[in-house]
Amino acid sequence: METFHLAGPLQKKMRGGHKFLATRECSWEIPLLEVPCEACFTNLLAFWRMLGRRFYLGSDSSRSLSELFESLGLTASETQRYSRHLVLPKVGPEGQRRLKRSSVLVVGLGGLGVPAAVYLVSAGVGRVGIVDSDLVELSNLQRQFIFSKADLGRRKVDAAEEKLSLVNPEIRLTCHPVRLDSSNAMELIGEYDVVIDATDNLPSRYLINDACVLQAKPDVFASVLGFDGQASVFSTPNGPCYRCLYPEPPPADSVKSCEEAGVLNVIPGIMGSIQANQAIMVLLGNGTPLIGRLLVFNGLDNSFKEIKFRKNSSCAVCGPNPTITQLIDYEEFCGLKGTETPAEFNITARQLKTAIDSGRRPVLLDVREPYEYSLCHLESSTLIPVEELDTRLGELKRDSEIVVYCHVGIRSATAVRLIRQAGFSNVRNLQGGIDEWARQIDNKMPRY
Ligand SMILES: [Zn+2]
Repeated sequence: METFHLAGPLQKKMRGGHKFLATRECSWEIPLLEVPCEACFTNLLAFWRMLGRRFYLGSDSSRSLSELFESLGLTASETQRYSRHLVLPKVGPEGQRRLKRSSVLVVGLGGLGVPAAVYLVSAGVGRVGIVDSDLVELSNLQRQFIFSKADLGRRKVDAAEEKLSLVNPEIRLTCHPVRLDSSNAMELIGEYDVVIDATDNLPSRYLINDACVLQAKPDVFASVLGFDGQASVFSTPNGPCYRCLYPEPPPADSVKSCEEAGVLNVIPGIMGSIQANQAIMVLLGNGTPLIGRLLVFNGLDNSFKEIKFRKNSSCAVCGPNPTITQLIDYEEFCGLKGTETPAEFNITARQLKTAIDSGRRPVLLDVREPYEYSLCHLESSTLIPVEELDTRLGELKRDSEIVVYCHVGIRSATAVRLIRQAGFSNVRNLQGGIDEWARQIDNKMPRY
């Protein structure tokens, strides 16, 4: 049976034991007069229960409340702020102190990075670093809930810093307004205990994995697309890494991005929260983090599945005979360099506008899906989705000047290669796609 040892004005709540026994059993006495408010008292009572009734709350104690907080290694306001953690047996004051001494680097402030950063900051991780070189865009607001309309055009790190420091001014927040690459990853990652990979592309995933393995830092991974999400924890002592799971990147043109394929807004919210949870588990040394387990979430049927995988003894970076001992060129490794469109195959939105205005009217070929075409399209453009190009090339005249466009310029780059291989010579790719056109030339055009 639970025994309460209270004295003073709260004596009516006393159950079992008397003051003498209470004092003998307790290692600390808390003078009720020094408990500033009821909420504080409730929190203290919760600690007291949690710590195995080692506290005695009395009106004639010689120990002060501030001494108690000091003994927990937390300030009075931290004690209130984290009270829901402090009563959890698997966190408690010791775990909270651990979080306070820890640091986490969140790479990417997108749909995953925003919830992960919010939870890590509010959990009391002592130092949180945020890395992103992008500006806030309207299409971000659908899922990156820390940003608002007032932030459009601002650097993401600046807008995030402003909001996060309001959530919890008691932690240290460090902004890195850069794109993580082979030249800065080792140094940046080296400063932190755990890394959250909240990026959205393959080169960054291999880069973060390798830099984490080389510096023995856990890499908390997640990715999302459409209604699906995946999460795992790589690069822990004896645990497998991203390369153990995926030794080789898939062919570059087989990978779709969220920008092209879309993503339901709550999916990165769920997966980013899972990443924060994983990082906290790793830092606390508690629970069973997703080491050697790929968690696969299907947001359509609301199911979680798990795929187990092991450390690969021939892994190029974490195996016993690694071939990767320093960071490499990840764009090249992922096959993105070879597929870049040569400069002369490209046309910018401004160049196209000038060409149209001068009366030169190139054939505008839209290779998106019909529903995208119905959202917005360039005037007098012809729609042939990229998948149908093979069979419909006959609809194009070989001697005409053709400008191909899609949403952001990726599918159209593939289309340009395909059309040129078929013998057309005057074909160019609209860089940045129709999105860039809407940004640069026609700001009335709907963007998606
Ligand atoms: Zn490995």
